[in-house]
Amino acid sequence: MTPGLCGRCRHAKELHTKGGSVLYLCGLAASDPRFDKYPRLPVLRCDGHALPL
Ligand code: SF4
Repeated sequence: MTPGLCGRCRHAKELHTKGGSVLYLCGLAASDPRFDKYPRLPVLRCDGHALPL
């Protein structure tokens, strides 16, 4: 399964669970309620997406 936009976003932090799953933590969620802390993947459209610096 691919993460979509979160896989290449400066706001995303990739997390690996003990069970082998990969989650993406959205850094914008802490300050903007439009974004889910753990977005449902794959994210195909997102107003907050920004390429890594
Ligand atoms: S801003 Fe959008 S693309 Fe970036 S991590 Fe958050 S949900 Fe994913």
